[in-house]
Amino acid sequence: MTMTTLATVALTIVELPYAYDALEPYISAETLHFHHDKHYAGYVTKLAELVEGTHYAMMPLEEIVLSSDGAIFNNAAQAWNHVFFFEQLSPRAKHHPTGALRRAIEDTFGSFDSLKQRMTTAATTLFGSGWVWLAADKDGRLYIISKPNAGTPLSDGLTPLLAIDVWEHAYYIDYRNARKDAVENLWSVIDWNKVDERYAKVVNIGV
Ligand code: MN
Repeated sequence: MTMTTLATVALTIVELPYAYDALEPYISAETLHFHHDKHYAGYVTKLAELVEGTHYAMMPLEEIVLSSDGAIFNNAAQAWNHVFFFEQLSPRAKHHPTGALRRAIEDTFGSFDSLKQRMTTAATTLFGSGWVWLAADKDGRLYIISKPNAGTPLSDGLTPLLAIDVWEHAYYIDYRNARKDAVENLWSVIDWNKVDERYAKVVNIGV
């Protein structure tokens, strides 16, 4: 048995929490093989090369994201973002938020449908590669945030709740250039149980 160190936590490839074909027909097994095994794993492997022998090698992944820039930030943030993205998807998704998150969404955006429409529009109109996020501040206020490339609301001191990956590698095999269709179908596999849990930690309540 080997010791688990902070370094190995940051530089470990996290397996998908479901089978590769579990999200079909919305996301194909082929897409998930490329997205997880090539793109996400590639960021982790590249990060490991970049941080070898530096003080970053002993940091948890989130600390690397918060304290780096350039290529180390890009690969660390992409590694973090992808684990976060994959873990919010489920073949047995709960399709709407409940409790405190539902109330916060209705207070901020008018309705859950309005939130989904705004995030879909943000994802469709983000130029180039990037991420659209639902995030919360420390008081539980909600924000929709578009970020280019590897960008994350962690850099703004916010807590990410939900991520939409709009890099072409996330959808091009299944949807070609139809990003809007990809995002609209993504809602079918986003598990709001997970998003509820993330928000409950921000506002410090049980789900
Ligand atoms: Mn991706």
